[in-house]
Amino acid sequence: MSKNHKLRPETIAAQSSRAVDPATGAVAPPLYLTTTYARDENYQPKLAENYQRNGSPNLWQVEETIAALEKGAGALAFSSGMAAVVAFCETIPHGAHVVSLSNMYYGVRSWFQQLENKRRITLTLVEPESLASAITAKTDLVWIETPVNPTWDVIDISATANAAHKVGAILAVDATCLAAVACNPLTLGADVVFHSATKYLNGHTDVLAGVLVARESNARWAEVKRLRTIMGNALPPFESWLLLRGLRTLHLRYVQSSKNAMAIARHFSLHPKLQQILYPGLATQNGHAIAKLQMAGGFGGMMSFLLKADFAGSQKFCTRLNLFAPATSLGGVESLAEHRKTVEGPTSSLPDNLVRLSIGIENINDLIEDLEQALAGI
Ligand SMILES: *Cc1c(COP(=O)(O)O)cnc(C)c1O
Repeated sequence: MSKNHKLRPETIAAQSSRAVDPATGAVAPPLYLTTTYARDENYQPKLAENYQRNGSPNLWQVEETIAALEKGAGALAFSSGMAAVVAFCETIPHGAHVVSLSNMYYGVRSWFQQLENKRRITLTLVEPESLASAITAKTDLVWIETPVNPTWDVIDISATANAAHKVGAILAVDATCLAAVACNPLTLGADVVFHSATKYLNGHTDVLAGVLVARESNARWAEVKRLRTIMGNALPPFESWLLLRGLRTLHLRYVQSSKNAMAIARHFSLHPKLQQILYPGLATQNGHAIAKLQMAGGFGGMMSFLLKADFAGSQKFCTRLNLFAPATSLGGVESLAEHRKTVEGPTSSLPDNLVRLSIGIENINDLIEDLEQALAGI
């Protein structure tokens, strides 16, 4: 698969199953639903691993494809995004300092806070503009997300990597919403890239998966892999097979979602029922200048509406939508709308009037008409 690094990303994704099955000539990859593999007549194993907890041909195929797409030394796929995050956090030295964002994907932030409560780490959570000044000589890990959920502010990956490396810390980037299409954080200096592959990489709202990709294969990376094996958290064969199937159309889906989202941002930017639209592609957005440089592959399909409505009115907007499902998650072919404060609960620092939209690949006029009629009713 190393020869794949020379191919362009659309080709790598579309032909991710190019390793034609030598036994049958099958072009689509066979699904190996087996937990164990028999040894040969000399009692030698036929594969690198012969028990499913250690890996499977379907897992390796999807990992090689994602490593090539992210230009990394290797990828490890897990049975969810959070499983990957938890395994990675286990490699933080005891008592080490972690810098991350006060506003970002809720599940990751609250896991860091739980580790801090157990005195496993010390934690500094800051706004994006304070990242560099929060990094100290004791910092082991800087974990960022860009664009940041659900305000979609854009963080400069190169500048953050430089600040981390100056003190010997590593930078991990939650690149779920960059989708390996907008940019490749490893080429901008990040040490580890994380994806909830549940989202854009799979794209069809039917697989829960997480992936870590490393710039270099080192002792810490080997430990992540050992932890995954021990916990039995490798992505199983069928989910790996489905994820590979989703990846073949990744670029088409991301480009179409980006186009639709930009059209919606432009169409509704002066709408009387909206206070503001948060979207990396708008000149009003925090970090738009960086986004223009850093998201060359598209601004993505994620945006938030700040409505001229209260808590109840914002919930009502979600239920009035017909095409947008009022559901959590993101990055699928179908559009979703979510009132984040309802999901995060009363301790959430998010405004009452924020509705997060995941823009899919539907016809843009249908999406605009649906948003128009829902806004008209609040
Ligand atoms: C969904 C998500 C996660 C968690 O991934 P799961 O696959 O749900 O475990 C982490 N980060 C971001 C940005 C996400 O959207």
